[in-house]
Amino acid sequence: MRAYGESADGPPLARLPSSDAVPERCDIAIIGGGIIGLSTARELARAGVSVALFEKGEMAGEQSSRNWGWVRRTGRDLRELPLMQLSGDIWDGLNAATGHETGYRRSGIAYAARSLAAVERYRRWATAAADYGVESTVLDGASIAAMAPGLTREVAGGLFTAADGRAEPQLANHAIARAAAAHGARLFGNCAVRTIDVSAGRTSGVVTERGLVRCGAVVVAGGAWSRLLLQGVGATLPQLKLLSSVLRTAPVEAGIEPCMSFSDFALRRRLDGGYSVATSAVSVSQIVPDSLRFFRTFLPAYLAERQNIRLRLGRAFLAEALDWRPGVADRTSIYEAVRRLSPRPDAATLTKVQKDLAKALPVFAGVPVVQSWAGMIDSTPDAIPVISEVASLPGCFVGTGFSGHGFGIGPGAGRVLAQLATGATPTVDLAAFDLNRFAADPKLELQQWL
Ligand SMILES: Cc1cc2nc3c(=O)[nH]c(=O)nc-3n(C[C@H](O)[C@H](O)[C@H](O)COP(=O)(O)OP(=O)(O)OC[C@H]3O[C@@H](n4cnc5c(N)ncnc54)[C@H](O)[C@@H]3O)c2cc1C
Repeated sequence: MRAYGESADGPPLARLPSSDAVPERCDIAIIGGGIIGLSTARELARAGVSVALFEKGEMAGEQSSRNWGWVRRTGRDLRELPLMQLSGDIWDGLNAATGHETGYRRSGIAYAARSLAAVERYRRWATAAADYGVESTVLDGASIAAMAPGLTREVAGGLFTAADGRAEPQLANHAIARAAAAHGARLFGNCAVRTIDVSAGRTSGVVTERGLVRCGAVVVAGGAWSRLLLQGVGATLPQLKLLSSVLRTAPVEAGIEPCMSFSDFALRRRLDGGYSVATSAVSVSQIVPDSLRFFRTFLPAYLAERQNIRLRLGRAFLAEALDWRPGVADRTSIYEAVRRLSPRPDAATLTKVQKDLAKALPVFAGVPVVQSWAGMIDSTPDAIPVISEVASLPGCFVGTGFSGHGFGIGPGAGRVLAQLATGATPTVDLAAFDLNRFAADPKLELQQWL
């Protein structure tokens, strides 16, 4: 099934052992083995809950291994900050807690501003973020430039958060998965959930391609597929996909420790000595039936971001119109047909990123690009996630729609999802992340700080 010109290569992932026989029942079933599902599984297993996680392809084969690896408070939507603070605390201890290398380092994150207006916006954000206990500093241009030796361009100033960090997406998910398994979670790769089983108006199990698993609660952590999974149980989640492309360089002594964004390119030092490089200035949105279905809900977000979004009409429209249907119990589903969303990166975007990078930081000129890849970012109309029970289906919980920043917040999201699903009081207030907000409030708040 080739809707997005799929390329075989994502970033390389180690093989994870899969659990053997699918159980007849468990307390909680999780759909999706990205950072959200895996973090939830680890939290539940640590608490002694019997949990089984089902991933249609390989663990972390979609967004969670393809991202930039930024663990970021800087410039976040203020409503996410309490959850991100919780997540930051978990990241700080995650290498020790999992017993595996996640690549996490408290390197700091810096955003360089090209204009004084941007500096002023950063200042407003830093003042507001201080109320949430986030310490970010507005710096002058020289201080930002000092973080990127050899920078050839002028910057007006910038925003820096020392507590922010970076991690290795190709290591961190596997570290969390291994820790979850060590605590007793059963993790099944190559095992799609076709549909959620419902009895007497409440969640009663999941129908996997290897049979029915009965359970008391389900956590839907299906990334870009969550919309379809929820449609299968009659719930509406407005969610669209944005294609975002990344390249990684060979090792280079550039001397840049923090993750840095210069708007036309952004870079993160990797444990292997290379850099992951990308841009948030361009993402590609394929027009698909959902673009029309959710046109009105997404219009304000599209208008706010239209400088950065390239709309494309291609074969994805037809592929989704013909084949992307919620699964049913007794038939091979779309989730089995598309084991891994692995779109081809946008060559024009990456060529420009490479050029801008080499011009601004000549140390990168001539450094080979070792690999490039792309991922499909699952976005909501207000660019904050859904972490919520589905009101119309007791026992069905959702953690999805992280809109391009779910890697950093993932461990915290896993903790509160585990609390929600077991009836405990979540550590942070989740009111802003309720699924009902889309139906209830047609004027959704969209915060843009960066
Ligand atoms: C290019 C790019 C750069 C990014 N950079 C950053 C960054 O620097 N920092 C940051 O914080 N975030 C970043 N993000 C966002 C971050 O990667 C995501 O928000 C996060 O990984 C989402 O995790 P997830 O578990 O919800 O989804 P995913 O990782 O997409 O996982 C969902 C999983 O569910 C599985 N699944 C779906 N349906 C079924 C089914 N029916 N049965 C079984 N399994 C199913 C899928 O196969 C998939 O593996 C970036 C994303 C991209 C694409």
